[in-house]
Amino acid sequence: MINTFYKASDVKEILTFLTSHNENTGILAGGTDINRLNSQSSYKSVIDISEAGLQEIKRTESGIEIGACVTFQQALESKFIPSYLGKALRYAGSRTLRNMATIGGNAALQRSDSYLLPVLIAAKARLITTDLSEDGTIIEENVPIREYIEHRNMFQHTLIVRICLNKPERFVASERFCKSIQAPPSIVIGFGADYSEQKKVLNNLRIVIGTAFYGIYRLQKVEEAVAHGVIQTAEELEKAVVGETKAVSDYTGSEAYKKYLAGTAAAHFFIECQTAAGRF
Ligand SMILES: Cc1cc2nc3c(=O)[nH]c(=O)nc-3n(C[C@H](O)[C@H](O)[C@H](O)COP(=O)(O)OP(=O)(O)OC[C@H]3O[C@@H](n4cnc5c(N)ncnc54)[C@H](O)[C@@H]3O)c2cc1C
Repeated sequence: MINTFYKASDVKEILTFLTSHNENTGILAGGTDINRLNSQSSYKSVIDISEAGLQEIKRTESGIEIGACVTFQQALESKFIPSYLGKALRYAGSRTLRNMATIGGNAALQRSDSYLLPVLIAAKARLITTDLSEDGTIIEENVPIREYIEHRNMFQHTLIVRICLNKPERFVASERFCKSIQAPPSIVIGFGADYSEQKKVLNNLRIVIGTAFYGIYRLQKVEEAVAHGVIQTAEELEKAVVGETKAVSDYTGSEAYKKYLAGTAAAHFFIECQTAAGRF
């Protein structure tokens, strides 16, 4: 049960609160998970960060930056948000939820059925995190989102302040396979790549899977095989994705079905990406 509640008006107040409280402290952004019935979180104290100046979306020289407390709905209404992110934001089908759920909260939660993580990793998004130095100054760190996911424990109590999308030219897409918009997905897939006309290969390919039990993970063997030209066609890619995807059979579908979904979606995105790059 939460018995200490504090509302911060800026980032320094948040960090001061976090450093002076123990690890059982939650960061209350939209509160859609912390306050949810049967929530897994068991925080004794929380700090409300919804009015701490983290709600700006701005264009930068290299792309866009989204404040951690920007809600899904605010992002959808912004002219700066790329269409691939707009699609993923709509995976949260309830407008009430979109009005509360924040992008930073979604990244921090790291749910296996995450609305946004597969597409953010595919987009090679970066997170700006903050900490307080011993003399009380705010230190910012720029962390690749894949590193944040891979070292989950290390970042458990780290405040995310902004999400950066710095690759405007990158092809990015995602799909969430579920029976209805409100139902849990069988599988979520994110796909992103830079295309090099010169080398005739996809560069920096990221294929990201989100699925029950295995969580969020990349298909690194497939990514490497494409980078080295071992995989060149959509058919080869589909087969390799089916081979590397891990999934369990449950009420959202069998293991084989989930692998099939991942394979066909990746092959489809592969063709779409090459078409976008003028290859066909
Ligand atoms: C009915 C229902 C269905 C849902 N289905 C899904 C789903 O399918 N997929 C999905 O991804 N989510 C789902 N959610 C969870 C949730 O709505 C979203 O993940 C949302 O984006 C979480 O953001 P929030 O601001 O509400 O987080 P909060 O509840 O405020 O916080 C969630 C966690 O993130 C941490 N946190 C929040 N902000 C930050 C920050 N800036 N820096 C560091 N840590 C932070 C908190 O400490 C806490 O542990 C669902 C929720 C409900 C109620």
